[in-house]
Parts: sequence; structure tokens; C-alpha cells
Amino acid sequence: MLVVKVGGSLGIDYDAVCRDLASLIQSGRRAILVHGGSAETNALSEKLGKPPRMVTSVSGYESRYTDRETLTIFEMVYCGKMNKGIVERFQKLGVNAVGLSGMDGRIWQGRRKSTITIVENGKRRVLRDDYTGRIESVNLDLLNLLLDHGYTPVLTPPAVSREGEAINVDGDRAVAVLGAALGVDKLVILSNIPGLLRDLEDETSLIREIPLEEADAFMQFAQGRMKKKLLGAVEAVQQGVREVVFGDARLPDPISKALAGKGTVIRRRTGDGDL
Ligand code: ADP
Repeated sequence: MLVVKVGGSLGIDYDAVCRDLASLIQSGRRAILVHGGSAETNALSEKLGKPPRMVTSVSGYESRYTDRETLTIFEMVYCGKMNKGIVERFQKLGVNAVGLSGMDGRIWQGRRKSTITIVENGKRRVLRDDYTGRIESVNLDLLNLLLDHGYTPVLTPPAVSREGEAINVDGDRAVAVLGAALGVDKLVILSNIPGLLRDLEDETSLIREIPLEEADAFMQFAQGRMKKKLLGAVEAVQQGVREVVFGDARLPDPISKALAGKGTVIRRRTGDGDL
């Protein structure tokens, strides 16, 4: 079982990601693709006159402030343009993909956090009406039903709260929960960078390996959204995924390369003695 997440930042080659995954599926692997859509959401938000508002929580993590109007724009891009664009690519490649949000069939159910405490200009502020949250359970029955019948799920936030509201969740943490629930061996997380860099300005400063036990020390290199990506990877390994690989989605065959260890690999030092 292969679980891959492709981000939504600029420069990602979705054709390359889909082509690579299609050939892995056609050679007999079961797979689920999770995707993001941040750059497209930012662009559409600007066009609609509702510029994105990124906020930093008191614990230092960045997220998109998601009021009801933002949630609608978010769904237009993630569940609409991005999800259907990927499904169309797969259909052209002969893969029978089914595009679903985490709300559909309660694939990702979580808890809504309607207020968040943020830090703005050095001061704490409480924001209300936020439709964000954290995933607590995965509907594996529905995913297995699709996979058992030869369909490839293509998943995207939002998730759904217990009360049935749409909630924006972080894609990297969502895929971590999914990978752990499925008990996968490896999780591939692709973005527009070679992996975690020591120096964001220098792509040759790639960190090849992060032992889980030392993950805290590597957090200092991650800025902005990368912090949550690393947090998601750490959570996945803590919950039983053997390896998470951050790979580069600007390259041809990005998934195969990541599976071969190209990128940043996060795993337990003491895992199974293969280090
Ligand atoms: P995606 O939407 O593709 O998942 P994100 O925008 O969430 O991607 O995260 C990737 C971005 O994180 C990179 O484009 C980069 O600008 C930023 N980043 C911050 N710190 C680092 C770092 N130390 N190494 C690599 N990328 C980093």
C-alpha cells in the first residue's frame, strides 16, 4: 500500500506525479494520493478580493485563518480545480481514480477548533469563527471498499467535524493520520523543494536523514509551513509508519525517487536495524 501526498505550492509538476503513480499502480500497487492546493487558493482568494490571512498560533505554527467565506474558496480550489484536475490526469493515464474530500463518507473526522489564539505584532489575540480542526479518525472501510474494487482514492481536505461541519485541516498531518491508520511502511510527502534544507536559500544544503529521536533539533531549520510538515512526519513515525520521505515534486518520477531514498528521510534510529 502506497500513500503519497503532493502539496500545493508553486512549481509542482502534477503531470509527473500522476504519471509516476499511475505506473506504480499499473505494476500492481494499491495507492492513495492526498493533495493540497495552497498556491491556487491564495491566487483565487486574491482574485475574489478576499486575500488569504495566514496566522501564527501561540505554539509557533502557521495556518490559514478559515472563516466561512474562506472555507468556500478553499473548497472551490481543493475539492474542485485541484481534485478534479488530478482525477482527469489519472483517467487519461488509465487509472480509475475517485476524487473525494475528507468530508465525503467521513473519511477524515475530527474536532473543530472554532477559536484560535494567535500572536500578531507580538500580542496575543483570539480569533473566532474559524473552521479548522484536527483529525481524530479515518474511515478505512470506505477506502478499502474503493481499493478492493480497483479504484484509486484521491483525497483532499476539508475533513468533517463530529457535528458535520467542514473543517480545514493540515494536509501533511492528515496524511500522517491516514498512513498510520493504514499501517503503511512508507509515506511519501512531495513538495516544491528537495526536502528539509539547512539553508532555505541553498538547495544543496539538503538534510538527508532525520532520526526521530533528534527531530526536535531539526525543527529549527523549518520555517513557516515546513514546521507542520515536519510535525506531521514525526507524528506518522511515532504512530508506526516506518519511514517518511520528503521528496521533490518538480522532478520526473518524483515518487520512485523518494521511494529510493532521494530527499529527506525521517525514521527511528533504532527502527529495525537497517541504519
Ligand atoms: P506544500 O503546499 O507543497 O506542501 P508548503 O508550502 O506547505 O508546501 O511547504 C513547503 C515550503 O516550505 C517550501 O516551498 C519552502 O519555502 C518552505 N520551507 C521553510 N523552511 C524550509 C526548510 N528548512 N527546508 C525546505 N523548505 C522550507
